[in-house]
Amino acid sequence: MTEVTIGNGRATSFWSDNWSGEPLRKRWPLLYEVSRRKNRTVADAINGDHWLMDLRGRISLPLLADFVALRQVVLDCDIDPDSEDSFRWKSDNQYFCPLCRCNLETPAHLFAECPWARQVWERTALLFHCPAIGAPDGDDRALSWAVTTLEASDKRAASLIILVAWEIWRERNRRVFCNKELTVSGLSHLIADEAYSWVLAGARHLVRRE
Ligand SMILES: [Zn+2]
Repeated sequence: MTEVTIGNGRATSFWSDNWSGEPLRKRWPLLYEVSRRKNRTVADAINGDHWLMDLRGRISLPLLADFVALRQVVLDCDIDPDSEDSFRWKSDNQYFCPLCRCNLETPAHLFAECPWARQVWERTALLFHCPAIGAPDGDDRALSWAVTTLEASDKRAASLIILVAWEIWRERNRRVFCNKELTVSGLSHLIADEAYSWVLAGARHLVRRE
């Protein structure tokens, strides 16, 4: 789980990210349920009181109390148009990995231990004939396999590690922010496409060895 410090509010999900102690959809599930726009960013929700106009349905008494509490959170939120939102990992997280949905989300889990992410690493290793980036050992909590490969002189494996980790992170965000998801094979193909555009951009060492 990540904690967010709000800057301009443009990279943070109003309902789903942890920018005020707990994701709003977990703290006020009734309000979340009656909101017809669940994907707004903090900037978008607060600007023009969109979060308020998104609420639909009859306002019951418990909902009214929630509403007042949420309004306070919105009033307390300082948007700073000149700075970016900053995300940091929270170690004592209680939240599930959006990729496999059965383990808690930590950096080591997301990039190395997650069974879903491991399938992506494996497929990419096969696709690029690059066993160095194959599924890391499940007990390897320190991501030492990635560090070892990044430090080795294999520029191609190092680039692939960065690319795969980046795409896993983007998939995680796609699920959290957009309620959309790719399959393992969908993401692997996206990584392949992305690798070829890197090649076009000059990273020729990524070219697949047959
Ligand atoms: Zn997972």
